[in-house]
Amino acid sequence: MLDLIVRNGTVVTPSGAEHLDIGIRDGKIVQLREAGTLTEADAHRSYDATGLVVVPGGIDPHVHTNSVLPTAAESGIRCFGPDRVSEAAAYGGTTTLIDFAEWKPGESLEETFERKSKEWAGYSYTDFALHGTFKHAEIPFEILDQVPDAVAEGHGSYKVWMTNTTPTRPKQITDIGHIWGLMEKTAAAGAMLCVHGEDDDIVMYAYKRLQREGRTALHHMHEAHNSLSEQLSFQRVISLARHVGAPIYLMHVSAVEGIEAIREARGRGQAVYGETLPHYAYYTAEDYKQPNGAIYHTYPSLKGAEDRDQMWPALIGGVLSTVATDGVCTDLDVKTRGKTILDATGGHAGVEVRMAVAYTESVHRRGLSLERFVEMTSSNAARIMGLYPRKGAIAVGSDADLAILETGIQRTLTFSDLHEADYTPWEGYEAAARNRATVLRGELIVDDGQIVKATPGGRLLKQKLSADVASRPAC
Ligand SMILES: [Zn+2]
Ligand SMILES: [Zn+2]
Repeated sequence: MLDLIVRNGTVVTPSGAEHLDIGIRDGKIVQLREAGTLTEADAHRSYDATGLVVVPGGIDPHVHTNSVLPTAAESGIRCFGPDRVSEAAAYGGTTTLIDFAEWKPGESLEETFERKSKEWAGYSYTDFALHGTFKHAEIPFEILDQVPDAVAEGHGSYKVWMTNTTPTRPKQITDIGHIWGLMEKTAAAGAMLCVHGEDDDIVMYAYKRLQREGRTALHHMHEAHNSLSEQLSFQRVISLARHVGAPIYLMHVSAVEGIEAIREARGRGQAVYGETLPHYAYYTAEDYKQPNGAIYHTYPSLKGAEDRDQMWPALIGGVLSTVATDGVCTDLDVKTRGKTILDATGGHAGVEVRMAVAYTESVHRRGLSLERFVEMTSSNAARIMGLYPRKGAIAVGSDADLAILETGIQRTLTFSDLHEADYTPWEGYEAAARNRATVLRGELIVDDGQIVKATPGGRLLKQKLSADVASRPAC
């Protein structure tokens, strides 16, 4: 007897989209059969997916929760926690989120992961993993020496910043020497190093010049967080990775120059992976001039039309691998409290609509295959972060994490239909898909657009990078 069958959907497996019945037992996919083969009598519960598209639950490898906003450090304002963000994710068809566990001086890496895991366990509707994160110029040797054990425990990804981002916020940069040291550890242990790539000297000089000229309004953001900065930092960290032989993941690619640096590295066979954000592929720096233009902002920054226009071709052509959100979820008053390039709040609400927007922009507008949509929203993130094939695939033996989508519709997004914040940067956007139901490890957690799971049951995932992903551009 099966626990659940999902019947007669258009099911997107690693080998293509087919009409299939999915049989689920003990949280795993145990059968994939021709549609009409499994019947209601075979399972305790049956979901009729006729006319719907069934994809692996989304994986958003870049969300921030519960963190004090750097531009509001004095007031201690935090972004929303895993409860709110994971609920929104579940509504939108995302079943795995990856957040950041920030190491603090005085604690071991193990304690860092334990502390952050406690903020998630019991509060999260989705499964989750954590990037070990450093926001210090130097990472002590004894902490670097703990990396192999942490990786062996299943903490398979780490993150550093190459810039302090603004002249006003607390320092977060790690110097390139210590990034080298960390990279040697992550590469040897088989972990992924995620990088916020911006050239700090360029960014800080640009801030000084803009301040001197009195040009600090929000719409100058891309002049501080500019394309040259992305180019120099990407080239620098890619060179370092080439020297070490390390896989790296470049977060929030925003410029043509960033795309080109990644293309060149991958062309040499380097394991370099790039992520972009849906709004970098849709909005430009001109949108900062809109009323409440801050809602479109995440760091580095929106760029020009030519940058925006290259994001989808780069995703389609396989130069970029993933569509993430860099979600930093707050309400509108917090998001818009900073009005200039010096005090703007980074990150925004976008976790819930990520799958619908990506579907609309890829399959609906550009005629991409469902398989490529799945790669960008789920399976590539699973591979790069060491969760594949447990996550990111509809395959026998994989976790039964599913998003069941209604497609071919026209649905105007508005914040009041969403569950994330009291605004959305996608207000008025015409989406061609809606998530109807979400299955997490075989359990229906969203049904007919409603959360039906009373208690959050998300679990911490162990990450283990495949040798393939670590050694060449595998996805
Ligand atoms: Zn970043
Ligand atoms: Zn981020």
